[in-house]
Amino acid sequence: MRDIIVIGGGAAGMMAAIKAAEKGCKVTLLEKNEICGKKILITGKGRCNLTNTKPWSEFSTHIHPSANFLKPAFFNFSNAATIDYFNSIGLPTRVEQGDRVFPLSMRAADVPKVLFARMQELGVDLLCSSQVLNVSYSNALFHCVCGRRDSLRGDRIEMVKYSAPALIIATGGLSYPGTGSTGDGYDFARSLEHSVTEIFPSLTALMPRMYDTDLVGIELRNVGLSLFIDLDLIKMEDGELTFTSNGIEGALGFRLSRRAVWALIKGQRVELVLDLKPALSLEKLRARIARDLTQMGTTADKIGRNQFRTLLRGLMPAALVAPFLHYHKDLNVSNLPDRLKEWRFEIKSYTGYERAVITAGGIPQKEIIAKTMASKKQPNLYFAGEIIDIDGDTGGYNLQIAFSTGALAGESAAQQILKLKSSLSPHSSVKG
Ligand SMILES: Cc1cc2nc3c(=O)[nH]c(=O)nc-3n(C[C@H](O)[C@H](O)[C@H](O)COP(=O)(O)OP(=O)(O)OC[C@H]3O[C@@H](n4cnc5c(N)ncnc54)[C@H](O)[C@@H]3O)c2cc1C
Repeated sequence: MRDIIVIGGGAAGMMAAIKAAEKGCKVTLLEKNEICGKKILITGKGRCNLTNTKPWSEFSTHIHPSANFLKPAFFNFSNAATIDYFNSIGLPTRVEQGDRVFPLSMRAADVPKVLFARMQELGVDLLCSSQVLNVSYSNALFHCVCGRRDSLRGDRIEMVKYSAPALIIATGGLSYPGTGSTGDGYDFARSLEHSVTEIFPSLTALMPRMYDTDLVGIELRNVGLSLFIDLDLIKMEDGELTFTSNGIEGALGFRLSRRAVWALIKGQRVELVLDLKPALSLEKLRARIARDLTQMGTTADKIGRNQFRTLLRGLMPAALVAPFLHYHKDLNVSNLPDRLKEWRFEIKSYTGYERAVITAGGIPQKEIIAKTMASKKQPNLYFAGEIIDIDGDTGGYNLQIAFSTGALAGESAAQQILKLKSSLSPHSSVKG
């Protein structure tokens, strides 16, 4: 007797189930993990940056490959509506630097907790430890064959089939597969006549060809980073970056990674150029160095080795001095301003899905109706979340994509089912 099946209990799937149930539909949610929202637990470094308060005009500049597709879903369930909704179901929030929104408790675990409580309140039939193995459509019903792990019976897997007239696929992408996102939904979509664009890891670390391990652990704030592809300047950003054992990451590195990874896949030359002094023009930097030299009582041609290191320590974090000298073997006072403003890293590789924050690509936008999240290929089929070819920068954009598309998919599926039910005779009902 169920109306809608949702596959995947991540941010998008839970929101879809809730919104469909709020409209009065009977919803079954199938989640392969033993709990819902496993990925949410690791978001925002365990604090969950659940959205961003920027107005659409700015918000949309952080969405790829095209923000237009998201617009109807965003205006149906916006960032402001998301905050109000979470507040209303018992999750107070706070806004931090960069317009990023977090639970007031600063605990990511509180996000799936309130969504779970809301699903229970609404009577969503929540079936965890239930991995959908394949999906088919016949006799106006979607059929999900599912392996259910029964912990009471020695973890035995029993095969069960669930059917419903509407289906929402919200299985996420391939990033952090340990959280359950293993790309199963792409196969389900293909079996229902959909295609899948080329997919690739994004918001991920970029590894330079020459990488000094002395850099690992250094965090830089207020620096500039430019992306060059085949020697053409593609993008220039300011902010913070981190050098880790995986290469260049942090907000700034991540923001450029989408385009960089795509170029590496296509065999193009990728370079990142670090500007350690973005606030100073080359002329101002030269003047600043000249002033520093005067204060140190020396000149460019008389400066000793130790004095040169002291000069560098005044211009960058102390830990950066050794790797900076190591990279720039020809460094002297006269070329210092150029090197500070243009530290070039050729990028040779990137971190894969195991540690990429998101998966770019997915179900093509052109195969989904943006106003409803309904499939253009199959009636009563909907998509939500990261499985769709839409993604955002870091800063709460990806969870908002999941919440907005999830809410719209749930509401649209519910409306469709209610319409279907009312068109049937008063004595008949939709059976699953
Ligand atoms: C480390 C990290 C930090 C992040 N931090 C942030 C942040 O702070 N802010 C932000 O906006 N975004 C953040 N993101 C991105 C954000 O978490 C995701 O974009 C978002 O959670 C995607 O939600 P989703 O519901 O579409 O997919 P997922 O969260 O991937 O959920 C999909 C669900 O489907 C289930 N599933 C898959 N296949 C099957 C199957 N066959 N049967 C049954 N169930 C199945 C999975 O187990 C999973 O629970 C972060 C991501 C990572 C990895």
